[in-house]
Amino acid sequence: MSDTPIIELEKVSKRFGQPNGALSRLLGAKPAPVVQAVSDVDLSIHTGEVVGLVGESGCGKSTLGRLVAGIMPASSGQVRWHGQNRSGLSAADEKSAKLGVQMIFQDPQSSLNPRLRVAEIVGEAPRVHGLIGPEGEDSYVDAQMRQAGLDPSLKRRYPHQFSGGQRQRIGIARALAVQPAMLVCDESVAALDVSIQAQIINLFLDLRTDLNLTCLFISHDLGVVEHVSDRVAIMYLGRIVEEASAEIVFSRPNHPYTQALLAEVPRLETRKSRFGAIKGELPSPLNPPTGCHFHPRCPHSFSRCSQEVPVLREIASGQRSACHLNDQA
Ligand code: SF4
Repeated sequence: MSDTPIIELEKVSKRFGQPNGALSRLLGAKPAPVVQAVSDVDLSIHTGEVVGLVGESGCGKSTLGRLVAGIMPASSGQVRWHGQNRSGLSAADEKSAKLGVQMIFQDPQSSLNPRLRVAEIVGEAPRVHGLIGPEGEDSYVDAQMRQAGLDPSLKRRYPHQFSGGQRQRIGIARALAVQPAMLVCDESVAALDVSIQAQIINLFLDLRTDLNLTCLFISHDLGVVEHVSDRVAIMYLGRIVEEASAEIVFSRPNHPYTQALLAEVPRLETRKSRFGAIKGELPSPLNPPTGCHFHPRCPHSFSRCSQEVPVLREIASGQRSACHLNDQA
C-alpha cells in the first residue's frame, strides 16, 4: 500500500444554502436556512483499500461520496488526489482525477439512459475520452460486460430489458470502462433483493482482487459493509464519529452510535446483542442538536454532551472515536 493516500479529505465541510448577507440582515430578513451536510471531515483512503461509510439516511454520506468523486466542490477544507489539492489541479489533471473516480448509484434504472443500448452506455465514455478507437469498441464493450458478469450477446438491448441486478452490473461495467482507480459505491445494493445483493457484493469482491480497486462503499447497513470493507467510518449528522478497521468496529465498537447500529444488524446466532438498538429519529440537519449531535438519542448522554462537540481522536491503535466518555475512562 502506497504511503500517499489516493484520496485525502482534510477538514472538509459542505453547506447548502447561503447565510443572509449584510444588507438582508440590515433589512431584518428572516435567516435563510443553511444545511451543514458535511462538517470538518478528515478521511484518507489508500490504493487498494475498501472503506465502508455507514450512517442513517440523511446523515450526509452521499454528499461526502460526491465530494470524494469530485462531482461537487467542498465549501471549505481540502480534498487531495494523490497528494495534490484538487482545487489547484490543471484542467488536464482535474479531468483525469474526475475519470479516476467513478460513482455507482443506488438506482440503476434512473442512472442509465433508457434511450441508449447497453453497447452505447458502456462504450460511450471510453470512446469520448480517447481510451479506445472506433475499431476496438465492440471487443472492448464485450470485455467490460464479461467482467461485470453480463453476457455480451445482450449488448443490443435497452436497460428496461434487464433485471434490477443486471442493470446494476451494467452500471458497474460503465464505471469500469473508463479504467478508474477508485469507485464510490453509493448504496449500490440497497435497491436489490437480498439474494441479488449477495451476487453484486461478490462481484465487487472479485473485481477488487482482480483490479486492485480502491473503493468508498457507502451504505446505511453495517451488515452489508462488514463483508466488503477493510476499514469502516461511521457518520452521524455530517460528522465522522468513529473510524477503525472493520475487525475492530465489529468486535469492539467504541461510539454509542456505532454500538446502536451494530445492535440492528441481524445475526444468525441467537445470543442477544450486547448493545441496545437505536431510538428516535435522525434530527434535522437544518437544526442539529448542540454539542454532540447524538446526545438526544444517546443512552449515555450527560451534561457535557449537549454543550461541547466531542473531537474525533485516536483512542486505541487504529481506532478513532468522538465521544466524551473516552475522556472519563
Ligand atoms: Fe453519547 Fe455523550 Fe458520547 Fe455523544 S459524547 S456519544 S452523547 S456519551
